[in-house]
Amino acid sequence: ERPEIESVFACVCDLNGAMRGKRLPIEKAKSIMDDGLRLPLSVLSVDIWGEDIENNELVFETGDSDGICEHTGRPIVMVNWTSRPSALVMFWMHTEDGSPFPGDPRHALSNIVQRYKARGLTPVVATELEFYLCDPREAQPRPPCSPVTGKRLDSDGALSLDELEHFDEFLNDVYDACHEQGIPADAAISENGAGQFEINMVHVADPLQAADDAVLFKRLVRGIARKHGMAATFMAKPYGDRSGSGFHVHFSLVDENGVNLFDNGGNTGTPLLLNAVGGLLETMHENTLTFAPHQNSYRRLLPGTHAPTGISWGYENRTAAIRIPGGNHKARRIEHRVAGADANPYLVLGSILGGALIGIEQGIAPCPPIDGDAYSQKLDHLPLDWATAIQAFRRGRHVQDIFSRRLQTMLVECKMQELKRFTRYVTDFEYDAYLESV
Ligand code: MG
Ligand code: MG
Repeated sequence: ERPEIESVFACVCDLNGAMRGKRLPIEKAKSIMDDGLRLPLSVLSVDIWGEDIENNELVFETGDSDGICEHTGRPIVMVNWTSRPSALVMFWMHTEDGSPFPGDPRHALSNIVQRYKARGLTPVVATELEFYLCDPREAQPRPPCSPVTGKRLDSDGALSLDELEHFDEFLNDVYDACHEQGIPADAAISENGAGQFEINMVHVADPLQAADDAVLFKRLVRGIARKHGMAATFMAKPYGDRSGSGFHVHFSLVDENGVNLFDNGGNTGTPLLLNAVGGLLETMHENTLTFAPHQNSYRRLLPGTHAPTGISWGYENRTAAIRIPGGNHKARRIEHRVAGADANPYLVLGSILGGALIGIEQGIAPCPPIDGDAYSQKLDHLPLDWATAIQAFRRGRHVQDIFSRRLQTMLVECKMQELKRFTRYVTDFEYDAYLESV
């Protein structure tokens, strides 16, 4: 239908949330849609860290065999930030016999959604993604110049209409691309950091769609920023002294008639909401790896930054890990605030919906909600660093109630490789501080 399209990107989403795959001539589109595409199973877990894979037993156990990537059913989307218009199609990994590959993060989320469906429940999900625009000419991020004044942004401040106006050509293109790709983009705001923005998605009664949307959205924002001579980053904490970028997830549960089962007509929410919160708190420490998957993610989880540090919940409280927003009781929902924008949306939604489901299945009551500033209260805390989070996920009591053993092992191996690389790397800070002084 679109004769101008010459090529198609066929991709799967890896454990780090990156899309990986091939660019093919458009003539191949029909055959890959019908018959699938073969890619090594390791494409899901061996990333840019691939040179250290000698210890990745899972990869070698099978001789790094191929999996069969099958079309997810998400319609082909147009990509218009490449030099010529192209298309992109999302696949998910299956084994040779056609069964879902349990290490694929999209299947992990799909399994959780099926468990809700079996109870007659559907999660309704809305996500919020924060990101920074920056100057692509620098090795380290630096705020961009305003396209209107030519001056570099330097001061922080949330909800600036000027920033929205100055970057409106970029935002127009983002909204056009979202429209073109079927992504329900809602409000845009200029966030606290210089050059930081947030775009909210409208809620959808399909968590797989919400996660697909988030993955596609991150890709299109980066591509469109490039077209405008900028770079966009979803790193959790690109600047040590500015706000981090979060990936907040709002959700409620509806029954077959679309009735919100968290709504008790008041502010507090139903017992079902409380059990969901109970499960989320119970599983939060061990699931933190999925919310904060990189070394850099732990720089974001700091007191006084609107990112959580303690395992807590509260009504209308942005210092808690879980906030129950106020407003119309019909929209009563949970806002989960732990994940950074750098996290894999399938794993984040899988952890959150899976944790909530454990709370519902086991009738877990949450501790009392907190009042006031969470940062100054004595609370159980999230893992403070990456290595602790990896171990917590590896040993977690509930991890295998949410994810397959295969996915758990693959994620741990993938993160251990990445950690090993970082451990060997001597930072600029160390040279500055110690090279000549000790
Ligand atoms: Mg925000
Ligand atoms: Mg929020």
